[in-house]
Amino acid sequence: MHKLLTFILFSFLVLSGCKAQPASPESIPPQVETLEEIVILSEWNERDVFKSGLIPSQQHLPDEMPDATIYHIELNIADDLVHINGHQEVRYTNQEDVALNEIYFHLMPNYLGDEMLISQVSIDGASAEYVHEKEDTVMRVSLASPLQIGESIIVKIDFLTVVPTQLESNYGILAYTEDVLALAHAYPMVAVYDDEGWNIDIPSEQGDVTYLDVSFYIVQVNAPKDLVLVASGNEITHQSAGDRKIVTFAAGPARDFYLAASEDYVLTSQKFGEYTINSYAPKNLAEGSQFAIDVAAASIEFFSEAYAPYPYTEFDIVATPTYALGIEYPGMTAINVDLYDLEANLYGTTAGVYLESTVAHEVGHQWFYNLVGNDQLDEPWLDESLTQYVTWLYYVNQYGENSAAGYADALDSRWERIGHETIPLGLPVSAYVDGQYSAIIYGRGAFFFEALANKIGQKAFDAFMMEYTKSHQWKTASTESFRESAEKACDCNLEVLFKDWVYIIE
Ligand SMILES: [Zn+2]
Repeated sequence: MHKLLTFILFSFLVLSGCKAQPASPESIPPQVETLEEIVILSEWNERDVFKSGLIPSQQHLPDEMPDATIYHIELNIADDLVHINGHQEVRYTNQEDVALNEIYFHLMPNYLGDEMLISQVSIDGASAEYVHEKEDTVMRVSLASPLQIGESIIVKIDFLTVVPTQLESNYGILAYTEDVLALAHAYPMVAVYDDEGWNIDIPSEQGDVTYLDVSFYIVQVNAPKDLVLVASGNEITHQSAGDRKIVTFAAGPARDFYLAASEDYVLTSQKFGEYTINSYAPKNLAEGSQFAIDVAAASIEFFSEAYAPYPYTEFDIVATPTYALGIEYPGMTAINVDLYDLEANLYGTTAGVYLESTVAHEVGHQWFYNLVGNDQLDEPWLDESLTQYVTWLYYVNQYGENSAAGYADALDSRWERIGHETIPLGLPVSAYVDGQYSAIIYGRGAFFFEALANKIGQKAFDAFMMEYTKSHQWKTASTESFRESAEKACDCNLEVLFKDWVYIIE
């Protein structure tokens, strides 16, 4: 294994000495003459920049993940907010148990409604061959020689992301509409290699589109000055000149990097112990923005107590015009802007009711999606059904068993939509048709966890959930590893229960 010690130089950077750490916001003069003066130096093994975004008890994490993929990304957002020029350097280490002949990158904008154009790829400084596959949704980069176990390479990619200007694809997670830029999966993302090989399937229209490993990100965004930028991780530098600004974010460990931006965002912020919740919404929705903070705070506190501490020093909530109610990202969530007008009628109930259940659900994903990962395309029940269940527990914790019955009724009526059919939970997203995905994964799924708790006893179940979270944190869970953890907790055989609820019986 050869160890790489490389410095990244963003294209507009000037190297000034050998600083071990990027400048903290305090150490930067408030005024700069030109953006060219900004210097960010990040050495591949630099860890402190990530520690600053983690609560003290979690600051050991970056040192314990030396082989996790590290992204250094530059995003230059054009004034039209649609064209984004990108340069990305990735340090990828082979953490698998076989040598690899290639690396795959997801090019999600090619799936999400517009396009991602790749202009150049190099590996360790040498130009590399790349081909598009799966209807251009992935790129295979060939390696000149196999990457041995434990070896690292630096992959540099120049790209252009063109953002759709309508919400038609996958809930509008990547879009510029209604003066909001939602940048989901807008950089070439390293695919996961696991026992199935490279996971490069084209996602289904109805579910989450990613399955990613834990990584670290330093992202420098060059954008119009008046655009309020909200992103995964923490802002580590911020400079402006003329009508542009450059903001650098550091994030990780995390499974993705998300950014939303709008000139209309007004920040409401509140500190809770070791972390701060930031809520961004248009000015006229301040009441909803504050309510989102209240719900996020209560759910973070509850889930931190029940499963594992919330690891980051920040949690951001952004209002976007997505077609979904909400979407989870590491350290943040995008919430449908229609939910913020608390008293408004939405699908026959008040928007505030949806805002509460949605924020609690998306906060739950910080544990079950980001902290404990899973193949969201092949085993969506592990994050979605479980998150529905823990949202139910949030209501029980917050309002008591009787009041929470209303939420359980809502889950049941989702399942009722397909006549309580006992379709297994353990299917890939693409196998569910005609409303089955929502009914089974978001409805029936929650009741499996209730059945499991009834079977093994509430005390054993609670202990199991904490142990499951801790033993799988920053790793990838599977149906089998979930069952093993549960069986260990109860010292019992759960095959029958899994056959009744989860397994596909041929
Ligand atoms: Zn969800």
